[in-house]
Amino acid sequence: MAGSDTHSGAVPLRFCPNSNDLLYPKEDRVNKKLVYFCRNCDYTIAATENCVHRRTIFHSASEITAVIHDVRTDPTLPRSKDVQCSLCDAREAVFFSQTTTEGMSLFFQCINCGNKWKDTGTVA
Ligand SMILES: [Zn+2]
Ligand SMILES: [Zn+2]
Repeated sequence: MAGSDTHSGAVPLRFCPNSNDLLYPKEDRVNKKLVYFCRNCDYTIAATENCVHRRTIFHSASEITAVIHDVRTDPTLPRSKDVQCSLCDAREAVFFSQTTTEGMSLFFQCINCGNKWKDTGTVA
């Protein structure tokens, strides 16, 4: 069982070691981090722990925006009501993580107008 499977390039799915359930991402506002949690038990793990794969692909800001499609209708993504859209002032957004040249970042998309932005950790 010493096979190497680290070359898939995709974000690996994570499973709960307790109940074997798929772990879901959620935002930890306290630590400004993305964590994965189990819906069946209270297992939680920091998302960045194993996400240090170095990538040589450079994404410009416009490329990142292009990669992110309209995710508002994706039922698998978590939502946050702890944000405010700078365009329409809506207070609900879908959020997800994306690996950029700066590392793992959180992105939001307003469910009202589709505006996308990166989590800077400071919301006015
Ligand atoms: Zn579990
Ligand atoms: Zn909006």
